[in-house]
Amino acid sequence: MIKFLDLQKVTAKYADEIHAAVNRVVDSGWYLQGEENKKFEADYAEYIGTNFAVGCGNGLDALIWIFRAYVEMGVMKPGDEVIVPANTYIASILAITENGLKPVLVEPSLENYQIDDSKIEDAITEKTKAILIVHLYGQCAYTDKIGELCRKYHLKLVEDNAQAHGCMYHGRKTGSLGDAAGHSFYPGKNLGAFGDAGAVTTDDEELAKVVRAVANYGSQRKYVFKYQGRNSRLDEIQAAVLDTKLKHLDEDIAIRKQVAKFYIEHIANPRIITPVVKDWDAHVFHIFTIRCAQRDALQQYLTENGIQTVIHYPIPPHKQECYKEWNNLSFPITEQIHREELSLPMSPVMTEEEVKKVVEVVNGWNL
Ligand SMILES: *Cc1c(COP(=O)(O)O)cnc(C)c1O
Repeated sequence: MIKFLDLQKVTAKYADEIHAAVNRVVDSGWYLQGEENKKFEADYAEYIGTNFAVGCGNGLDALIWIFRAYVEMGVMKPGDEVIVPANTYIASILAITENGLKPVLVEPSLENYQIDDSKIEDAITEKTKAILIVHLYGQCAYTDKIGELCRKYHLKLVEDNAQAHGCMYHGRKTGSLGDAAGHSFYPGKNLGAFGDAGAVTTDDEELAKVVRAVANYGSQRKYVFKYQGRNSRLDEIQAAVLDTKLKHLDEDIAIRKQVAKFYIEHIANPRIITPVVKDWDAHVFHIFTIRCAQRDALQQYLTENGIQTVIHYPIPPHKQECYKEWNNLSFPITEQIHREELSLPMSPVMTEEEVKKVVEVVNGWNL
């Protein structure tokens, strides 16, 4: 079977370096908030192109801490609104509601699945304080128009960069385009830890300080508590693993792009829509999406023919039980994407043979 993502193989590729890094931490006797964190934060900030990176427990927390810090800083208050794409992973939305802020859902474009910037201005009200863009599937969601709207209405621009480490917009990395960005290092992400891990990047020194404090019991000095914080720190072992893997991220992204190019050039089944890529720097292919009106039948056929696929995502946020109050809302484009999306195997360890086999099977499908 061709796996959707073979994590064992992903790790094996750099096994010697990773084992050395893990052993270094094990032998050091220092497991939290030490030199490994400092090194990874410095290297990651440099990679993204921001002044600060602050490690934390996971990607959801990274986003939660950004909004929490803005509330603590008096930039936002409960009841304020945050514009966010209607088609995103639930974490983007949870980070907003967790802080008593109100998500205002905006439809994506059917061409690239990113927030439709022509629909944002209508959603802005007196209470709007921020736009949270999500670089979904690893593709840049930022546009110059979004930047202009943020300046015109004095809105913070927050990026959910969980799926897009290494993605570029006109020479700058996503995660450095707005006021702050949340990053996830969940094992399956392009830069993945051996468990949960996350980070916030920003150029705003005050924000970085507050994020670091709220993720560490609300403390800036030991045993002195400025905020009612929580415990959400990056483990030293995870920081060491991430710093090791960061060195190879760009070569891994290059392989993802080769796989994506092959898929796009060779998938020729009239029922299947492959991604539209206008700028190859602006997509790191965390996920390779196809769309198909008979998605479920296609997925079953692929499974029967030894190809594992995943749906990102089967139920949109506004149809989830945890947001009952939105269940009657209608977002037709979002719903269509959730009905038709299918993710093909994609990773930096796929063999040429495997990629060819996927194409062959996909092209051989006719109902
Ligand atoms: C993975 C992901 C998150 C959350 O990251 P975790 O580390 O799993 O908490 C947030 N947003 C998006 C778009 C994601 O894909």
